[in-house]
Amino acid sequence: MQPLQQAPEPWTRPARPPLPLHELTLREVRDLTPHMRRLTFDMDGQLDYRAGQDLALLVPGADGELHRRHYTIRDAAPGEAAIDFVIHGHHGPGELFALNARPGDRLEARGPRGRTVLNPDADWHVFVGDETCLPGIFAMLETLPRRARAFAFIEVEDKDDRQYLDADCDLDLEWLVRNGPAVAASLPLIERMSLFAPPPGRGQAYVIGETSTVRTIRRGLLARGFDKAQIAAEGYWRPGRLGGHDHIFDEG
Ligand SMILES: Cc1cc2nc3c(=O)[nH]c(=O)nc-3n(C[C@H](O)[C@H](O)[C@H](O)COP(=O)(O)OP(=O)(O)OC[C@H]3O[C@@H](n4cnc5c(N)ncnc54)[C@H](O)[C@@H]3O)c2cc1C
Repeated sequence: MQPLQQAPEPWTRPARPPLPLHELTLREVRDLTPHMRRLTFDMDGQLDYRAGQDLALLVPGADGELHRRHYTIRDAAPGEAAIDFVIHGHHGPGELFALNARPGDRLEARGPRGRTVLNPDADWHVFVGDETCLPGIFAMLETLPRRARAFAFIEVEDKDDRQYLDADCDLDLEWLVRNGPAVAASLPLIERMSLFAPPPGRGQAYVIGETSTVRTIRRGLLARGFDKAQIAAEGYWRPGRLGGHDHIFDEG
C-alpha cells in the first residue's frame, strides 16, 4: 500500500532564492529638477533588467542600521547604473542618502526585481503615476518602438519638476502639477484617469504611485471594463509606510 502523502506545511514552502547582490560606488550626483536628484553609480558587470524594474537598496539610517528601499533603475550600461531619487521632504533614509551623497559613497543593492514591465502584446499603453514613478514610466516609454501608441499622466510637485523625454513612440504625455508636496489620494490623477478615453484595441495600463491612488484608479478601470490582466498596479509609497511596496491585485 502507498504511504499516505502528507500535505506540505505552509511554512515548509521553499524560500525564493535571494536576488543577485550588487556593490554600487557613487560616481556622480546631479539635480535634474528641484525635487529629483540623479545618482550615477559604478558597478561590476551589467544589470540584466527590464525597463520599469527596480533595485532594493540598503541605505544607512540615522539609527546606524541599514534600511531597504526600492528605487527604479532609470538607466544602466556596462559598469554603471543611474537612479533618480525624489526629494519628498520627509527625510527618510532613502531621501537622506540622496541629499548627503558624495562621490565614493558605497551601497549594496539586490535585484533587479518587479513585475511592472511592458506588455509587448498590448495594442496601446497607458501609464499613470506621480514623481516616484517618473523614472519607471520614462524608462518604459524609451523602450517602446516607434509604432507603439502610448499615453502618460504624471503628477509632479512643481512645474519645474517636469522633465524632457526623448522617446520614439507615438506618445501623448500630460503633466499634472500639484503645486505642493504629495499627499495621499491624488485627486487630480484619479479624476484625469476617470476621463481617459481608451482607443480601440486591447491596451495595457500601468498604474503606480501612492497606494490609495493606485487602488482607486485600478477599481475605476475595472468598473469601466478593463480586465485584471490589463492592469499592472503597485503601490510605491503610502503615508506613514517606511519603505516596502504594496501589491494591488486582491480586490475588484
Ligand atoms: C518598485 C518601486 C520603485 C520605486 N522607484 C522609485 C524611484 O525610482 N525614485 C524614488 O524616488 N522613489 C521610488 N520609489 C518610492 C520609494 O521607494 C519610497 O518613496 C520610499 O518610501 C522612499 O524611502 P525614504 O527612506 O526616503 O522614506 P521612508 O523612510 O520610506 O518614509 C518616510 C516618510 O516619508 C513618506 N514618503 C515616502 N515617500 C514619499 C513620497 N514620494 N511622497 C511623500 N511622502 C513620502 C512615508 O510615507 C513616510 O511617512 C519606488 C517604490 C517602489 C515600490
